[in-house]
Amino acid sequence: MPEDICNNIKELQNRITRACKSAGRDANEITLVAVSKTKPVEDIKTAYGCGQIHFGENRAKELQDKMDDYENEDIQWHMVGNLQTNKIKYMVERVNWIHSIEKSKYLREIEKRASRIDRVINTLIQINISGEEQKSGCEPKDLKEILEYAQGLDHVRVRGLMGMATFVDPEEVEKVRPEFKMLKEIRDEHQSYESENVQLDELSMGMTNDMEIAIQEGSTMLRVGRAIFGERNY
Ligand SMILES: *Cc1c(COP(=O)(O)O)cnc(C)c1O
Repeated sequence: MPEDICNNIKELQNRITRACKSAGRDANEITLVAVSKTKPVEDIKTAYGCGQIHFGENRAKELQDKMDDYENEDIQWHMVGNLQTNKIKYMVERVNWIHSIEKSKYLREIEKRASRIDRVINTLIQINISGEEQKSGCEPKDLKEILEYAQGLDHVRVRGLMGMATFVDPEEVEKVRPEFKMLKEIRDEHQSYESENVQLDELSMGMTNDMEIAIQEGSTMLRVGRAIFGERNY
């Protein structure tokens, strides 16, 4: 059965509205990033057709291919997966947001490439909130140095922090709450590093299984794949 993408988005928006209401928040504070990884460009076009503007991918090559295949000035493209320095050059030509900065060397490369084409890229610093060794993101103690570095850049704007919670079974989802709480606390502790191009307003946290908890804990950007496009085969 094909996924009814528009219906899924509508139901997701209801889920967001309900979660915001119960958390005493305004649903307009939340940006929904539709994570289309492994799904065809046709699905992105369908979602755009029903009003979805923000799309996320976790692999540079796939993001590149989709930005090439579907040129649409209204779409905001988000890179949410691990970075490699050599992929940044092409990425900055069209990407609008990069959620996965874990080292200042990536900021340096974005600045270098974006300055040549006079673009400014929105970035989020990814923090390892799950504490797992192999998980991506910088350690909280490294954030200070990255933000100080970012303050001196002209073609990078830091907009906030991103975190990926531990993967747990849906019925155990409460377990991730402390990780989201921690991301918000880290943000609050670093607000003194804000400057003209460093703001920490955005918290990118929450996916299909844990979005309600993320909203309760202050998320402003949800990265949702399966609830929109259906299960992934790989
Ligand atoms: C795949 C992915 C998501 C979306 O996960 P779902 O469980 O499909 O909602 C969010 N963020 C990142 C970084 C991802 O790789």
